[in-house]
Amino acid sequence: MQSFGTDRSDASSVLDAFASRLGFVVSVGALFLLCVLAGLRVEISIRHLEADHQVFSDRQLRNGFVSMSDIQRVLLVAQEAEAERSFSEQTRADFIEAVDILYVRKDNFQRVLRAGETLASAQAAISALETVIAIADDAIASNFTATEMLFADLLEASDLARVKLVSFLDDMDRMQNIVLRNQADAVQGQRNVVYLSLGGLTLLGFAALLLLRREVLARRAWERAERDVEFLAYYDPLTRLPNRTQFHKRLGAVLATNRPVALILVDLDDFKGINDTYGHTAGDGVLRCTATLLSNRAEELNGFAARLGGDEFAIVVPTNNLERLNSLCHGLLQDIADEFDFDGEAIAIRFSIGLATNAQLGTNLCHTVDTLTRVTDFALYASKTHGRGRFTLYDQTLEQQYLERRAMIEELPRAIGDDALEIYFQPKVLLRNAEVYGFEALVRWHRNGNVIPPNEFITVAEESGVIIELDRYMLRSSAALVAEFNRKNGTAYSVSVNLSALHFSSRRIVGTIQEALEGSRLCPKLLTVEITETVELRDWRLTQKIISAIRSIGVKVSIDDFGTGYSSLSYLRTTMADELKIDRSLVEQIETSEKARFLLDGVLDMAHSLKMDVVVEGIETEPQAQTVASMGAARAQGYLYGRPVPAETAMKRALTSFKEAS
Ligand code: C2E
Ligand code: CA
Ligand code: CA
Repeated sequence: MQSFGTDRSDASSVLDAFASRLGFVVSVGALFLLCVLAGLRVEISIRHLEADHQVFSDRQLRNGFVSMSDIQRVLLVAQEAEAERSFSEQTRADFIEAVDILYVRKDNFQRVLRAGETLASAQAAISALETVIAIADDAIASNFTATEMLFADLLEASDLARVKLVSFLDDMDRMQNIVLRNQADAVQGQRNVVYLSLGGLTLLGFAALLLLRREVLARRAWERAERDVEFLAYYDPLTRLPNRTQFHKRLGAVLATNRPVALILVDLDDFKGINDTYGHTAGDGVLRCTATLLSNRAEELNGFAARLGGDEFAIVVPTNNLERLNSLCHGLLQDIADEFDFDGEAIAIRFSIGLATNAQLGTNLCHTVDTLTRVTDFALYASKTHGRGRFTLYDQTLEQQYLERRAMIEELPRAIGDDALEIYFQPKVLLRNAEVYGFEALVRWHRNGNVIPPNEFITVAEESGVIIELDRYMLRSSAALVAEFNRKNGTAYSVSVNLSALHFSSRRIVGTIQEALEGSRLCPKLLTVEITETVELRDWRLTQKIISAIRSIGVKVSIDDFGTGYSSLSYLRTTMADELKIDRSLVEQIETSEKARFLLDGVLDMAHSLKMDVVVEGIETEPQAQTVASMGAARAQGYLYGRPVPAETAMKRALTSFKEAS
């Protein structure tokens, strides 16, 4: 099967790392740090610049000051020679050295000045120094022969030089201050620009990271949505099992290879009841629990489980070994034998299981998912109709039965319209004199030349919903038949019509009954509706309301098949029906079973105290009639008094026997 992740490139995983909260914080932090470092670097460069300038200025100042002491030295030597009135060898040497030093100093001065800014006072100071040096050089050149005026000249020149140097130093000082201030201003300005730029960059970076993060998060959400959509396309979100689409694909792929494969369809018995009784959360829990059980069992045989919808599940296993498949199905039924615990409530679940393999499709049927599902469905259906909580292996007989049922479902609606249904009446009698007081209407279907009893098609009609139309037809026609007969013959026969429990989920039935009464002009008290519980009554409150509404128009309500599984005494207490029909199964044992007599006794007592009529059904023999009569039953129905026959015949017979008796 497909993988549900999408391939991610390295680039997108890097972006994802950025977009994570940590990645985002780290990135912003790194950006900020970078800006701070850049700022620091600028700061350091500025400091260096300031320091360099300081060094340059310091050197100039030192040159200025030292030049003055150098001049002083030349003067001192000259003064010494003046005092002695001659230049000794030593003095000459000292003088030359002092002049050399001064020369070197001036040179340095000039060099430093060239490297820095040109300053008029510096130039003047250097010129003055050059004058001093020139006078000294003259003296040296003349080998100190004409030195009378040397000292005076030197003094004058060096005074001038000193003045120039002082003026230079003043200028230097002033200039240094100005430069420093300007520099400080410039640096300040530059620093602001740098900091503003860095701040701007940080903001831009932050915004870019935010955008990136949004972009990546949006992409991720999209990818997630894509994965979800893909998941939903192939999986059931509640149980996380493969869904019908995936089931179809996978089973189809196996069938195409002709390898052995078995399909097991599993249906939860009365899942709706679980939902209604315990709520939908419990229902979901049951589905999830079922999913786990099924997939564990499927995996044992290297197969898979799928949820096909609602409470329908499937297992596909790559084998057609019936022994192994039987044990798998047994295992499943055992698994659910334990009650499922939901929030402390023990819920009993049961499965109906159908099983078929591709080997059973033989060569006549095509090996497709639909065919295999269809035949497995026959088997599942058989499990359901044969008492549920069991599994059935598909076979041809099953299929035949199933096809017959399908044909019935298709034909029945037409049969109602085409008058293929016939109404049979069975007499209801008073036990004391066997007098017929009314009839139960029982449907018969003329199909392909046969008369089909209702047992063979009522459940089909209930499953397909056609029962609603069928019962309406029976109501209308039975009421019309009896009313017409009564009018013609001056009789007051009543008629009982069976209504499926399906009618009791909607108030429409009240209107239908009224229409039948109006159409036939039958007196309401001559109409009884028997609630036959071939399907379970779901909403008991609504049922009660509908029963009250029916009784309020004067029609009687009878509880059918009392004593079988469906009807119960508690129903009886809450319904306040007019009549109770004791099921034939109870009557069968009435002469042999103490328990049956005890039960009938109790029911008769209770019914009398509730002022309900009791009709004992299925009386076939005189002793049965006597026994029930001796127990206090007043009304009966059964073959002893008449089998169901076409309505007209039944009524005529009843009238004739009444006339004969009187
Ligand atoms: P039910 O309502 O319990 O009807 C009584 C059934 O017992 C009838 O079967 C009747 O023929 C049979 N029966 C009556 N007396 C005796 C007896 O002494 N011995 C034996 N062995 N059987 C007896 P039928 O006509 O085959 O109807 C079967 C069921 O089909 C009915 O059971 C009723 O539940 C359902 N049914 C029949 N007609 C209709 C209908 O028009 N609408 C609905 N919803 N259900 C119907
Ligand atoms: Ca009945
Ligand atoms: Ca009955």
